[in-house]
Amino acid sequence: MSFYSLDYEKERFIQLAKKNTRSFYEHHDQIPSSAGQVELAKELVEEMKEIGLEAYYNKKTAFAIGKLSKNVTDDITPIGFFAHVDTADFNANNIRPQVHEHYDGQKIVLDQAKNIVLDSAEFPDLLTLKDQTLITSDGHTLLGVDDKAGITGALAMLRYLTEHSEIEHGDVFVAFGPDEEIGCGGQYFDIADFPGVEFAYTLDNGRPGDFTYDTFNASEVTIHIKGTVVHPGEAYGLMVNATTLMNDFLSNLPQDQVPEKSRNHDGYFLVLHTQSSVDHADISMIIRDFDQAEFNHKEQFIYNLVKKLNQKYGKGRFTVKIREQYENIYNYIKDKPYIVNLALDAYRKSGLTTNVHSFRGGTDGNFISPKGIPTPNLFNGGGNYHGRYEYVTVEQIDKLAETLTNIIMEHLRQTRNGRNEKPLEKYW
Ligand SMILES: [Zn+2]
Repeated sequence: MSFYSLDYEKERFIQLAKKNTRSFYEHHDQIPSSAGQVELAKELVEEMKEIGLEAYYNKKTAFAIGKLSKNVTDDITPIGFFAHVDTADFNANNIRPQVHEHYDGQKIVLDQAKNIVLDSAEFPDLLTLKDQTLITSDGHTLLGVDDKAGITGALAMLRYLTEHSEIEHGDVFVAFGPDEEIGCGGQYFDIADFPGVEFAYTLDNGRPGDFTYDTFNASEVTIHIKGTVVHPGEAYGLMVNATTLMNDFLSNLPQDQVPEKSRNHDGYFLVLHTQSSVDHADISMIIRDFDQAEFNHKEQFIYNLVKKLNQKYGKGRFTVKIREQYENIYNYIKDKPYIVNLALDAYRKSGLTTNVHSFRGGTDGNFISPKGIPTPNLFNGGGNYHGRYEYVTVEQIDKLAETLTNIIMEHLRQTRNGRNEKPLEKYW
């Protein structure tokens, strides 16, 4: 039993997947970073109009915006959904989606000659998708499940609601945005395009049932170190070698708080790049932590270490800049449990097993939440994101459409009968 039309969802996803909408960090000074994204966003505007929404393309932000107006007289707050049109940093030329009807759980040879095989022995999650309609790439490109599955699910939900006008609902806003994969899209979003929206959800990575409202806090650290160059033969007591100072800094970093020794709810310091000579040295690094106090503590650790080393080597040898990249969504959700409870109530109504987990990264919601619209993440289905082994099933996309519809219906029901305000429990 499907919720909407599996045929529509399959065909629409395949059409979307074929479009090259890869984003490029090297063009992040343009909005959006590639022309394919503009084309797709404009096409989605036309489709939303055809479905019956008010829709437009925001030229400044490259977002396609749609509004499905409420069909009740209740005083109900609008809610929003986001999916992104761009795909990750992987070949997206000539994407040829392959459909495997009634997937048998066995390995799939994507390219015999090049021995490109999608094997359930290597990716055991595939075994949970037996008998479903599995879609993969031909092994030479990504498929673009992330986030074309999210877009397809949202379109199916909009079609379902407009075809079933007897279903009551409040205002629903949808935004299809650019450049999520290069960390820009959410920053561009203009909340004037979501008037009155109380909260929203992104439809990004994750399996049906996954839910995320806890992400990293993130900052970028750059350190510059000044040395003193003297002829080595006459250097006694005079030369200050910036490389030696850099090594001192690096050896004072907490050696156990690094990505390769961190998991679950741990944060870390990561040295990304160093370069040095006698004259000067540069370090670029990032700090990540879920917990706000721990995160502040990590930033303070860097400031203190720089201060200590300046005392040791002389004032002004070390200079540091810390730039905040994004903030944990949890900071904006923790006092608003309804946003989480509503989604999880809808998950249960859709027959999903809920899996609330922390996400060791950032999403569009990290940029949208501080603008005033708290935005945790739902899911888009599929797996093996960002590469040649990406896959999704039509049934997972259908489950997304059903879940979105249930969120909308549940929001009206709980607006009328009382919101589920059960306080959030720390699950980590
Ligand atoms: Zn994504």
